[in-house]
Amino acid sequence: ATVPTLRFHDDHAIPQLGYGVFKVDPAVAADVTGQALRAGYRHIDTAAAYGNEEGVGQAIRESGIPRDELFVTTKLWDDAHAYDDALAAADASLERLGLEYVDLYLTHWAVPAQGLYVDAWKALIELQRRGKVRSIGVSNHPVPQLEEIIEATGVVPVIHQIELHPYFQQRELRAVHERHGILTEAWGPLGQGKSDLLENPVLADIAAARSATPAQVAIAWQLAHGHVVIPKSVTPSRIEENLGAKDLALTSEEVAAIDALDRPDGRGGMDPAQRPLP
Ligand code: NAD
Repeated sequence: ATVPTLRFHDDHAIPQLGYGVFKVDPAVAADVTGQALRAGYRHIDTAAAYGNEEGVGQAIRESGIPRDELFVTTKLWDDAHAYDDALAAADASLERLGLEYVDLYLTHWAVPAQGLYVDAWKALIELQRRGKVRSIGVSNHPVPQLEEIIEATGVVPVIHQIELHPYFQQRELRAVHERHGILTEAWGPLGQGKSDLLENPVLADIAAARSATPAQVAIAWQLAHGHVVIPKSVTPSRIEENLGAKDLALTSEEVAAIDALDRPDGRGGMDPAQRPLP
């Protein structure tokens, strides 16, 4: 089966399963992104802060895949939220990627203490108007800041990329997304190697019963919930394995068993409300 696409409220569409390149060394980014494209991924998630946009762009060019068959996301870094800085940062990302537009541009973190997230959001709105980015969304925005950018501009992000995995399920935030018609996108879907998630017996049992792997089960759980998901690996066999989750349709019982793994202390990354100044 091919990867399903989900429709944004702006009518553009995103492949539900993509390839993330956080912490991918710039020196290997072109190689591993090329592996992912050959394996069949058509959605790549990078960011200015990852330092590997050039490698991603190189892999895209070398793949020969038509631009309109690819979905590329990049992100605005914390130090460029001021309106003019954000416009310039997007141009710099496009230059490094060697692309005329990206499919999705996200404010990487709200950085509430800096207080420039509305300015950043206004710049993203302008970038979309100028055709430099097809769709605009956010990442790591606490509910008050998410509500504030919407109230200030009347423009609703198409998607919110957040830490989300079976140990940290973000139910309240997902309910807010649903109210606004915002898609949920999961970062750290495999737990980023920070917990025993991939050794969890519930995942292991489902994996064994379905001739799948725990990583595939964790990804399939996101797909079953209608989330966009962007697992990362630099290992060719795992790059393929993770994409294989598209063929694993979990039953409602399996989904419910994983739903029960949510933990109050399950956050592995930084709390977006506490994000320090850049
Ligand atoms: P992840 O949960 O995808 O975990 C990646 C790690 O899991 C790999 O480094 C590897 O050690 C392991 N792994 C991968 N495939 C495996 C497999 N099949 N079996 C066993 N182990 C496996 O963590 P991530 O990379 O942090 O998150 C995914 C993507 O989300 C990132 O690459 C990035 O694109 C995005 N992201 C965004 C933010 C943000 O602030 N917006 C933060 C983190 C990540």
